[in-house]
Amino acid sequence: MISAVLCAAGRGERAGFAQNKVLRELYGMPVLSYAVSAFAAAADEILVACRAEDAERVRRLLSPYPHARAVPGGETRAQSVLHALREAKGEIVLVHDAARPYVTHKLVEDCIASVRAFGSGVCALPATDTTVLAKDGCIAAVPARGDVFTVQTPQGFLRSELLRAYEAMFAEGREAQFTDESGVYAAYVAPPHLFIGDRANKKLTFPEDFAPAERVGLGIDTHAFGEGDRIVLGGAVIPHTHGLTAHSDGDVLVHALMDALLSAAGLRDIGYYFPDTDARFAGANSMELLAEVMRLVRREGFAPCNASISVLAERPRLSPHIERMRQNVARALGLPLSAVGIAAGTNERLGYVGEGKGITCCASVLLRRTV
Ligand code: MG
Repeated sequence: MISAVLCAAGRGERAGFAQNKVLRELYGMPVLSYAVSAFAAAADEILVACRAEDAERVRRLLSPYPHARAVPGGETRAQSVLHALREAKGEIVLVHDAARPYVTHKLVEDCIASVRAFGSGVCALPATDTTVLAKDGCIAAVPARGDVFTVQTPQGFLRSELLRAYEAMFAEGREAQFTDESGVYAAYVAPPHLFIGDRANKKLTFPEDFAPAERVGLGIDTHAFGEGDRIVLGGAVIPHTHGLTAHSDGDVLVHALMDALLSAAGLRDIGYYFPDTDARFAGANSMELLAEVMRLVRREGFAPCNASISVLAERPRLSPHIERMRQNVARALGLPLSAVGIAAGTNERLGYVGEGKGITCCASVLLRRTV
């Protein structure tokens, strides 16, 4: 029999929330529900250690899972785990931070397999950065990177062994020395066995961890044809019988793209940053304005993932110029060519586009959070 213990008795102080962070919503579902659902199939019972004031809400959340129940948490994580270990019935116990919602069925299965094979299983990631030991603000030692892992949860053990270790630790008053089960087990039972975790299985700690990491943006712009012998589209100069009427160079594609980027980053539109009443922007090269927009977007902590742009124009014929536009846009956004799509079409002679009076562009971008 397998018991899962979910630690959910925190206060969310580091995240700066008034309520327990595992009861907050993440993409429309409480954080705690993710972990419960990941363990639901593999565990015969799920014990959620929570604070008394959260118990009613936790019980409601657990109602779809008849084998899950709330148990009283302690003042510290170690006390919560000790209480839950005493209440649990399983021969194997898996302990998990409820604030790690991205735990997968595979990690749960790997954890159980490790306990069955080795008596313990601690989810850990090989270090990708160089890690150092520091003392008084200086590097004191540099462990070989291959020896360094960061430890996550779930962590699985034989319940009798982990309970014995916890009781010994409390009897000796050493609970402040350990931050998780693996340390306690290592001190009182044996070196715990590691299994490879998942980079996505991160612990939600700070407010930004609860915000979506990706943001979509949409921008649309239209310019009318007027005097001239060329148009500028996506930074490409295209000879034509007319120009596009504008305060700047009239690059309607780049204007739509800039609005998409600004709107995805939660900023104002291009009219706000580059007003057409400002003489500085007369005849402006829109690719330079795009570089300025990219600085604003980066300053907000975002970088583009991809851009998808659609141009509606009855004329001129744009297909010979599409590749050059894609290259210009990809370079400006710091993206590979494959992350920029530009489609061009006519409007079947309908409306102002169809009558050849102007060009409309529609751009969408996806931004990812970089900080
Ligand atoms: Mg415009």
